[in-house]
Order: sequence, then structure tokens, then C-alpha cells
Amino acid sequence: MRFYVLTLFTEMIEQGLSHSVIGRGIEKGLLSVEAVDIRNFTEDKHRRVDDYGYGGGAGMIMQAQPVYDAYMSVKNRVKDGARLIYMSPQGAVFNQKKAEELSKAEDIIILCGHYEGIDQRVIDELEPEEISIGDFVLTGGELGAMVLIDAVSRLVPGVLNKEESFEDESFSDGLLEYPQYTRPYEFMGRCVPDVLLSGHHENVEKWRQRQKIINTFNKRPELLKRAELSEEERQLIEELKNNQHGGFYK
Ligand code: SAM
Repeated sequence: MRFYVLTLFTEMIEQGLSHSVIGRGIEKGLLSVEAVDIRNFTEDKHRRVDDYGYGGGAGMIMQAQPVYDAYMSVKNRVKDGARLIYMSPQGAVFNQKKAEELSKAEDIIILCGHYEGIDQRVIDELEPEEISIGDFVLTGGELGAMVLIDAVSRLVPGVLNKEESFEDESFSDGLLEYPQYTRPYEFMGRCVPDVLLSGHHENVEKWRQRQKIINTFNKRPELLKRAELSEEERQLIEELKNNQHGGFYK
């Protein structure tokens, strides 16, 4: 999978994604991330890429022409069908389902805005998919692009090691993950749940599924409305509701 990030801050992208799982995916040749400097496409002799906004108001606006030319420089060398995403607080909020969908793409071009944003005319011309990483305003799209690239890349086959499966992770089936433990057995008087030491695979699985429901009920109850649940799991939720005393249910 190839990512092309159109940005004014190429170093942020290059440094931010060269470590850990994503860095390893790049080394293995499963992923590539190219930061394309929008400033290289300005026609201004002082290399400016922004100007004051029409109609007044605070802040500078990124000009349409350098953004358009930066995009075309990538578009002209990738296969048809490349996805174009504009990181924007006005977009649909990113989630695991979107990450799964994007993980099937071959080429993803991501446009990062800065300052007060980008001249609307280039957005209207290119018609990108607008994606937000949450209902707050960042200084620029780079952090959002990195979040998106990280979440999508780890779903690309081979990027995670065998031991690092994403199948049980939070949101993979609409629920939050179960609690995890490692050695030592006891920490500050708190012990690892005995079932995890029992070696009884089926009981471990049952315990984990139950914990997923409890965790989701306690932390993100609204997710339960959309999750596909068995009759037994629905009963557990009813039990949790009946036992609710304000505190977390364990
Ligand atoms: N004036 C814009 C508005 O109110 O909608 C905000 C501009 S913001 C300061 C500059 C850039 O940061 C945006 O063009 C976008 O690329 C990026 N950005 C800001 N918040 C974001 C978010 N929640 N998700 C994704 N990108 C974001």
C-alpha cells in the first residue's frame, strides 16, 4: 500500500511514521509513505503558498494552485482509482470501519491543510473525501494523516507479526477488548484472574468474551446498540443493568 501525503511539513510525516510497526512495514516493502512538499509547487518567487482570505477575518488561507499542482504531480504517476482524502475537521469522523475499508486500497493520497485551511475552489475541483479525526481543531492535517496511516497500515496483511493479531482488538467486532495481563502474577496485591492460568482454552475464551461485554458496558455503552450479540450476551447486559450501582461492574 502506498501513501502520498501532500503537506507543508514533510519532516513531520517522515519522522512520525518511521518507527515501530509502521517503520517495519516500510522496511518489509509492504508500505510506503511519501511526503510531497506542497511548497515545491508554488509559482511565487518568494515560495509563498498562503494569502489573506477574501472577506477579511483572521488567519491565512492555503492557495489553490500549489495544492492542485502537488496533487497532479502524484495523480499523474499512480494508477487510476487512487483514493484522495482531505484531512478536515469538517469531514466524517474516522473509525475502525473506515480504516478497514481503506486498508484494501493500493494508493491513498492525503491532503493536509494548515493555517485557516485551503481555498475552497481546489477542494471543489478535486472532490476529496473529507475525514476528521475528531470533533476538535488541530493546527494542521499532519497529525490526522499520521493517525489515519497508522490505523490503516496495521490492517495491511503482513504488517503486524503473527503474535500481534488485530482480530481481537477493540472495535474489530464492535466491542472493546478484554483486559490484558503479563508477568508478574501479583502486582501490589492484585493478582491475574485465575482463569487465565487454567490452561482451559474454552474457559479463557468465555471469560474474555464476557469481559468484552463488561468493558464496553462500563466504558462505551452506546457501542452495544450496534454490536451483533448472542442471546447469552444480551442476558449478560440485562444482568449488568440490574446490577448497576454507579460504579464499574467487574
Ligand atoms: N478553519 C478550519 C475550520 O474551522 O474548519 C480549520 C482549519 S485547521 C486550523 C487547519 C487544518 O488542520 C485543516 O485544514 C485540516 O487539514 C487540519 N485539521 C484540523 N482539525 C482537524 C481534525 N479534527 N481532523 C483532521 N484534520 C484536521
